[in-house]
Amino acid sequence: MRDKVKFCPRCGSKNLNYMPWLGERYVCKDCGYQGALIVEDGEFAEEIRKKFEAEDKEEE
Ligand SMILES: [Zn+2]
Repeated sequence: MRDKVKFCPRCGSKNLNYMPWLGERYVCKDCGYQGALIVEDGEFAEEIRKKFEAEDKEEE
């Protein structure tokens, strides 16, 4: 049985705050993403995280 872990669709982080009082909204503590869309696929989240970190390095 797989865990239902929720990931940020922007940076792949697991540090999501659920804000139901804002209307089914999640807020990422790592990149500041806010929205209803989240990722529940760990492998997909890993891909997102790799891309996000790669883009982060290019900006330096
Ligand atoms: Zn994020």
